[in-house]
Amino acid sequence: MEEAVGTVSFATGMAAIISTMTALLQRGDHVVASRFLFGNTASWFNTLSNPGVEVTLVDATEAANVEQALRPQTRMVFVETIANPRTQVADLAGIGKLCNARGIVYIVDNTLTTPHLFRGKAVGASLVIHSLSKGICGHGNALGGSVSDTGLFDWSAYPNLLPAYRKGAQANWGLLQIRKKGLRDLGGTLSAEHGHRIATGAETLTLRMERVCANALALARWLEACPLVSKVHYPGLASHAQHERAASLFRSFGGLLSFETVDGVDPFDVLNGLQLVIKSSHLGDNRTLALPAARTIFWEMGEEMRRSMDIAESLIRVSLGIEATADLLDDFEQAFQKLEAAQ
Ligand SMILES: *Cc1c(COP(=O)(O)O)cnc(C)c1O
Repeated sequence: MEEAVGTVSFATGMAAIISTMTALLQRGDHVVASRFLFGNTASWFNTLSNPGVEVTLVDATEAANVEQALRPQTRMVFVETIANPRTQVADLAGIGKLCNARGIVYIVDNTLTTPHLFRGKAVGASLVIHSLSKGICGHGNALGGSVSDTGLFDWSAYPNLLPAYRKGAQANWGLLQIRKKGLRDLGGTLSAEHGHRIATGAETLTLRMERVCANALALARWLEACPLVSKVHYPGLASHAQHERAASLFRSFGGLLSFETVDGVDPFDVLNGLQLVIKSSHLGDNRTLALPAARTIFWEMGEEMRRSMDIAESLIRVSLGIEATADLLDDFEQAFQKLEAAQ
């Protein structure tokens, strides 16, 4: 699906991310452990005892911000295609050019777009990561993650690649180290049952994404016209800051949107009024899910961090499912009608 030279699967999307970074980055701390260890545990400790990794967070909607943050020691740039929950679209192509010119590993998390809308290879990604728990599975009944190597990165020039893994076809060296140092040593293995469910779900990816994207666009337009809604964030709307970019890079605009209510409208009243939409975390499910982003998944980070991420306290995130469009719009209509009546 990613036109890659190979893919390694993991138990979750997070396992894919952490395992990949642990395998490819050098980081360090002081650890004391027995000299007599299971081989993979020993290997893990030797990974762990490398020097530390510093992370700079930038606004990736402009490649210039990424460029400014680059240092001679920069080994990796990591971006998501469409950011959750505010739907900013990264300057995927611009960052790809930068990374490729400088031999930096470029990792694109393609979860929100899925391979139906976009392929990381098109913008020069070295590795493409997915949470398979989301749109690719689609049914919300399995967890999984994946890392695909597009074949564009020259692993022979990567300083952190261990001699033991510089073997066989050069295109596979990166994945070989991710498989050994990441998947094998950390143990985030995809279970066979979940792999089966994900594979079955993937068969209908195109059908589902077509409906999901159509539902998202219809709801975004409906919300934009609703007087009790102050802002709608969806790359498919002309008002979105990266609408043109999304239109040129993606087949369609994805299944995630978020919106803010006008002052005096409590987002909890909106959510409580919804009957068809399920109030739940998760995304990329066949069922439409909504949640108050600031009070749930972005609560722990605190208000200051939320502000820096442009997450309004009233923000409602919606992950569209495959319901009939009219049923969804009816649900939002009756929820807002109740609020209007109460005002
Ligand atoms: C959910 C998600 C992840 C993590 O995936 P899990 O399978 O839940 O561990 C990573 N990246 C993005 C963009 C996600 O939406």
